[in-house]
Amino acid sequence: MLRVGFVGWRGMVGSVLLQRMRAEGDLEGLEVRFLSTSNAGGEAPAGGVSGVLGDALDVRQLRRFDVVLTCQGGGYTSGMHERLRGEGWNGFWIDAASTLRLRPDATLILDPVNGDRIRRNLRTGCRNFIGANCTVSLLLMAISGLYREGLVEWVSTMTYQAVSGAGARKLSELTRQLRHLSLPGRDLTSLTSLEAEQAVTEVQRSGSLPSTEIGAPLACSVLPWIDRAMDDGQTREEWKASVEATRLLGADPPVKIDGTCVRVDALRCHSQALCIKLGREVPLSDVHDMLRSGNPWVRIVENTKEATLSRLTPAAVGGKLEVPVGRIRRLQFGPLFVGAFTVGDQLLWGAAEPLRRMLEILREHRN
Ligand code: NAP
Repeated sequence: MLRVGFVGWRGMVGSVLLQRMRAEGDLEGLEVRFLSTSNAGGEAPAGGVSGVLGDALDVRQLRRFDVVLTCQGGGYTSGMHERLRGEGWNGFWIDAASTLRLRPDATLILDPVNGDRIRRNLRTGCRNFIGANCTVSLLLMAISGLYREGLVEWVSTMTYQAVSGAGARKLSELTRQLRHLSLPGRDLTSLTSLEAEQAVTEVQRSGSLPSTEIGAPLACSVLPWIDRAMDDGQTREEWKASVEATRLLGADPPVKIDGTCVRVDALRCHSQALCIKLGREVPLSDVHDMLRSGNPWVRIVENTKEATLSRLTPAAVGGKLEVPVGRIRRLQFGPLFVGAFTVGDQLLWGAAEPLRRMLEILREHRN
């Protein structure tokens, strides 16, 4: 049995990953030890080989595992990966953080899109398997069928990214902002609509909303900036789209994807409004078929109000593996321009699911 050290199991990604592993019965086929950076010696969650949390910062403990599976974040990866490799550890490092994504000795993992490459790299000795950026993974889950047909010239994606994409502490700060905005002691429903809007706006501007984690009021608002600035006006989140999609698809020349990444006050699921420039004109029904052929999780949503409102929202998609793509229509710019909207659970296909499935691939490889 593979011996797996699981770090970061109580964060947003880790807790969803653990939930999925339990639901799929994965823990029975593995020897999992839970570790912690903050509570070594504390009580471990059920399903592992020990009731006590191991020390995620102890290289001697980590060396014993065949696999280190981490959802702890980039700081942990930067601190531990090199140290462990430096000690001659030759196990598999599976990671949700971005730190190692672009290294030549790492493979990005999203097996419905690049399963062949993952297995090939595994056979030829790759030991670092890293989940891609959540927005990029969800975009490719939605439209990889079009890439496979060589139909995409470029994509502009405008994103609506949930707060849980930024981690547990930011989600919890948003809930505190929401509580503040509901104006304790004052019944918003007793005000006129304009009075209610003005009351809420006043609180947003007052500086009283807790915002040390998020950096600004997000409740009832949007923040068109995610991650740090790059040199050319993009944010790093925007920069990742083309770079990581190119790597995931093994594309040469690089794929062209750009747009504005926006944090919204949805709690879970990233949505993206797409403008796709096709390389050749094809009927929309063929676009539907190609999208569907991308992988078994794509769902085409009819371009009607009823279907869109019931199936193409974070509220409808959260907690599900399906990746709906809707609002598919020819844009007014010309026959080569297609618009679409997609929603996906960034904690599932954008993070936990590729990691969980990588463990399965390792198990197959071992047998
Ligand atoms: P997170 O929720 O912030 O959790 C990371 C760690 O923070 C936890 O393992 C925990 O470590 C510690 N922590 C501190 N306060 C916590 C609290 N109140 N609740 C839970 N954990 C707390 O981070 P994440 O969103 O899971 O992301 C982990 C990595 O995955 C990051 O590198 C991120 O960029 C990447 N990623 C995230 C997403 C996403 O949708 N969130 C998607 C793709 C990739 P200890 O138990 O050791 O204290």
